[in-house]
Amino acid sequence: MQLEIRGLSKTYGNGVKALDNVSLTIPTGMFGLLGPNGAGKSTLMRILATLQEADAGTAMLGTIDVLKQKDEVRKVLGYLPQEFGVYPRVSAFEMLDHIALLKGVTQRGERKALVEALLQRVNLWEQRKRRLSGFSGGMKQRFGIAQSLIGEPKLIIVDEPTAGLDPGERNRFYNLLTEIGENVVVILSTHIVQDVQELCSNMAIINKGKLLYAGPPDSALRDMRGRVWEKSIAKAELDGYLNSGKLISNKLVAGKPIIHLLNDGSPGEGFVTAEPSLEDVFFGFIHASNQAPVNA
Ligand code: ADP
Repeated sequence: MQLEIRGLSKTYGNGVKALDNVSLTIPTGMFGLLGPNGAGKSTLMRILATLQEADAGTAMLGTIDVLKQKDEVRKVLGYLPQEFGVYPRVSAFEMLDHIALLKGVTQRGERKALVEALLQRVNLWEQRKRRLSGFSGGMKQRFGIAQSLIGEPKLIIVDEPTAGLDPGERNRFYNLLTEIGENVVVILSTHIVQDVQELCSNMAIINKGKLLYAGPPDSALRDMRGRVWEKSIAKAELDGYLNSGKLISNKLVAGKPIIHLLNDGSPGEGFVTAEPSLEDVFFGFIHASNQAPVNA
């Protein structure tokens, strides 16, 4: 089973082209969809989750036509949206029980066993009687995973799952995601490079609705080897580099800027080649696409 997206486009009523002829093949396992805010990730996720219509293109999950056979998709879909609206007065157990019922687990005993197993799996058993409104961000995300797993989904979509989580919560969430079966297509949409680095064997980078890269993170890193240049500079020099059009990242180390440039050959005195990081890959692609003329 894989997800084949071909020529997907979506323009909103205000003229924003959120998806521009996107084609992607997504195998089973963890797939990272990386892009800055406004890239079109949520639009793509919502279309695949049957919550929104595309203007053009196709998406096939195995033999299921995702854009047309919405009921079929929903039977095999687990969706964890960016904002999970929860019922404040309801406990985690009651809410999962309710969602399982909606997803067609009508037999009471079966539903109870399923909900109990899920609560154990996402490590919310101790909190099962607590109201969801009192949950921390990390607990809400783990609850979100539990509800998305009801019905043994074949396609799991998680939209910006770690935004707002503290490092401990993020780690617990990563561990949980990696336990999801390898025979499931899991799409993780995020603007956080670390999410993809830690979890994904395949990824895509999008910006302004356009696909910029698709493939394993390793290949992208390999392609950049020898072209990432690093230099520690004085603060006063930073503006000049920012305006040069070649800077892909800068960070402060002990108060001093360390810059990364993408260049074939040394950009000048004091630069040394740096081992590319996934951040270099990401910012390199985004930077190049932001520099490209519109409609290129
Ligand atoms: P991301 O999830 O990567 O942040 P989105 O898919 O939410 O990106 O948005 C892509 C682009 O479409 C952005 O420019 C956003 O402002 C615009 N957009 C998203 N939803 C709507 C909408 N309902 N109406 C008009 N424009 C929208």
